Amino acid sequence: MSGKSWLARSCAWAAVAACVWQAGSLPHSPWQSAAAQTRLELERARHELVDKVLVPSGVTNKRVVQAMRDTPRHEFVAFSLRKQAYLDMALPIGDQQTISSPLIVSQMTQALDPKPDERVLEIGTGSGYQAAVLSPLVKEVYTIEIVDSLGKSAARTLKRLGYDNVHVKVGDGYLGWPEHAPFDKIIVTCSPEKVPQPLADQLADGGLMVVPVGERYSQTLYLFRKKDGKLESEALLPTLFVPMTGKAEQARQVKPDPANPRLVNGSFEEPAFKEGGQPGWYYERQVKWQDDPKSPDGGHHVVFTNSEPGLSAHLLQGFAVDGRKVSEIEVSGSVKLDDVVPASADEACGIAMTLYDEQRRELGTMFLGPLHGTAEWHVEKKTFRIPPTAREGIFRIGLFGATGTAAFDKLQMKKVEK
Ligand code: SAH
Repeated sequence: MSGKSWLARSCAWAAVAACVWQAGSLPHSPWQSAAAQTRLELERARHELVDKVLVPSGVTNKRVVQAMRDTPRHEFVAFSLRKQAYLDMALPIGDQQTISSPLIVSQMTQALDPKPDERVLEIGTGSGYQAAVLSPLVKEVYTIEIVDSLGKSAARTLKRLGYDNVHVKVGDGYLGWPEHAPFDKIIVTCSPEKVPQPLADQLADGGLMVVPVGERYSQTLYLFRKKDGKLESEALLPTLFVPMTGKAEQARQVKPDPANPRLVNGSFEEPAFKEGGQPGWYYERQVKWQDDPKSPDGGHHVVFTNSEPGLSAHLLQGFAVDGRKVSEIEVSGSVKLDDVVPASADEACGIAMTLYDEQRRELGTMFLGPLHGTAEWHVEKKTFRIPPTAREGIFRIGLFGATGTAAFDKLQMKKVEK
């Protein structure tokens, strides 16, 4: 397999859902059993993920990198999804939940700065993968899952694979696990609107907590430090997480409005994060936040630059859309291009929107593009039909494997009134 081919494809047009791992690319050796061959392929794909995606995205903590190399993510997904286990994408694990993407897992783990003698509490066991990544990095991992079937299945998988220092419990994680408190570190992998008080109380003084906080489709990963009994926070990365279940979801103050889908920070006027990243957007690749009074809207825009065909440059944003209430959406954006050349038919510059149904099954991806060549600032616009089964979507802009430079500003999504 040519080094970057499948990874590049995983970042192309159909990035999050429709990438295909090039299975069977190792030459067939008659003395290897099929299972061994698969194991080798999976291992190779795992190292490629670490070297081509995680490390270049800033995951540099040596122990965390090693844990990502050693943890068999394919064991935490259904057999049918194994081939996608080492693409940087979330995958369904049942009950409308997903296993976190490897990049998110490694970034959250690195943010926790795990030490061998520490005890960590995780909220949102899901598949058990995040807990498995933490297992060799700390002394004990306590993890709580609210969905009974998921918690039990994760506990079985962790036991089968010998992660003996991981303890799983089914229950509401926002109440913490008082019998084992205080914890040196707490990692929350579902997304509360605010930090639940019991978790703040159960964090040891001097301890760290990583939490994605915010509105359902626009979240930021926060790192909190507990000092003299109080949590001090600092913003990290914008991210896109699965919705919560139960009470916490119902209690959100700012709800997404699926009848009027909108983009957050579509003109990039909110200051970029110090560590890199645009508020409201996710999954930043080869993007620069540009200060420019001549921007089509306000004083800023974003610029994607790529010189290696097939390597992705993009930004994503999740949104809610109810196909029963919205039958068409008009998507528009201001675009400026400089020598943009597609790498292949599906690796081209543009705006893309992928829609999902209530089981988070992909319904299809729509494109505004391909955009190519050189052009001054101008408006690109297209109307997309929304199937009635649509419930959420991912909006994407970027070069998606094309080379050249593309600037975007004033991105908008509007329901077409009939
Ligand atoms: N860490 C997981 C993925 C997290 S997905 C992994 O590595 O696979 C988020 C998980 O949080 C889901 O399984 C969801 O059921 C769970 N969850 C949501 N709200 C919760 C709560 N209040 N307490 C415990 N778990 C919760």
